[in-house]
Amino acid sequence: MPVFEYVCSNCQNVEKRITGIDDHTVICERCGQVSVRKADVESLLASYAVDRGEVESGR
Ligand SMILES: [Zn+2]
Repeated sequence: MPVFEYVCSNCQNVEKRITGIDDHTVICERCGQVSVRKADVESLLASYAVDRGEVESGR
């Protein structure tokens, strides 16, 4: 079973959860807000960095 780390968008609480491959968000146990899979956050940040690089070189 895959274990993923989730970071709460509200309180920054990090939880390790055993979830399905398509479960990109879970509910934070601490505050009840949405937690986003850490790998997704990092890939999003990486894609933003790439996008910014393309915009800067294109202008
Ligand atoms: Zn939280």
